[in-house]
Amino acid sequence: MTAPRPASPGDTLDRVETPALVVDLDALEANIAAMASRAKAGGMALRPHAKTHKSAEIAKLQLAAGAIGICAQKVSEAEALLGSGVKDVLISNHILGEAKLDRLCGIAKHVRVTTLTSDAAHVAMLSQAAARNGAEIEILIEIDAGDARMGLQNLNQVGPLAQAIDKAPGLRFRGLQAYTGPFQHIRDPEERADAALASAEIALEARDAILALGLSCETITGGGTGSFDYDLSEQAFTEIQPGSYVFMDMDYGRNEDGPSEVFRQSLFVLASVIRVPEKRVVYVDAGVKSLNLDSGMPGVHERTDLAFTKASDEQGRVEIATKGQAPKLGERLLLVPSHCDPTVNQFDWMVAVRNGRVEHVWPVDARGCVI
Ligand code: PLP
Ligand code: MN
Repeated sequence: MTAPRPASPGDTLDRVETPALVVDLDALEANIAAMASRAKAGGMALRPHAKTHKSAEIAKLQLAAGAIGICAQKVSEAEALLGSGVKDVLISNHILGEAKLDRLCGIAKHVRVTTLTSDAAHVAMLSQAAARNGAEIEILIEIDAGDARMGLQNLNQVGPLAQAIDKAPGLRFRGLQAYTGPFQHIRDPEERADAALASAEIALEARDAILALGLSCETITGGGTGSFDYDLSEQAFTEIQPGSYVFMDMDYGRNEDGPSEVFRQSLFVLASVIRVPEKRVVYVDAGVKSLNLDSGMPGVHERTDLAFTKASDEQGRVEIATKGQAPKLGERLLLVPSHCDPTVNQFDWMVAVRNGRVEHVWPVDARGCVI
């Protein structure tokens, strides 16, 4: 069951039922345009990560601004976003299991589908699924570009694995993924630039091992909202795959530099004050079930006198600074999510507003699509 729509086009923000996921369209459009023009100026393809917004409407805006395709993190997420008209999807994850691979092949019959591997046994599973379904799947080897996560660490294995993919029926070897998650949030820009340089060098070493075997390496993809500027100047990748830039969040706001100055906060959780028990404390109707706290508490937009300090399932505690202005009963506050992607996944609807008026109520198409 889908939750009721919290608003209708034409409503003022005061009428939106809370808690609601709210997107400021002017800021969203500016962010989409800014990333598109930077990628273009840097001569690199842009493949935004749609796990951030899970919305076919936002994917459409990214594609209209020049994105070559999108990334999704899950097979069901990709399926849910096909309504955007996307023709080229990278599922930037390791997909296995018979039923799931059959679904993956189902998508590959309609659009270009690429996915990741780092393991010869996995290559055999992917190939069997492609053969079973009469589909072709394109494959990138995920390398560990310095963050010690899912990627292949031993670069000596990259060439032989690329050969195995190249020979496997139903598979086409496409290149490399060298994304580094934790590096996106290195606070000091110089340290982050050094990390991006190190990742670029690893990616080029892996590419050279592939080229030395006479294979081509058409794609090297990686980079996120924190590193894309450095990735563009390194020129090791052929495409970047940032996600959070469309919305931004408190965690990205804590990076000391650039991207947070380039991209505006466009995502909020609109909450109402439902209780004013004391002079210095109020409670709002947004808690753990409408926020995500893995990266800390949300901020309160344009209210430095207010601090969101604690959340229960459905309520949040907001403390008022000594000289602060106490919000009134029923007053609305715009909370700034600490981590945009999982916060979006809490809502069925996204209320898109411009100048305080609702323009669209968009479904979060891939909400809950974790399989
Ligand atoms: N690519 C991959 C594989 C990711 O996992 C993510 C996010 O975690 C991104 C790209 C997008 O990164 P960001 O949201 O930091 O721009
Ligand atoms: Mn994230």
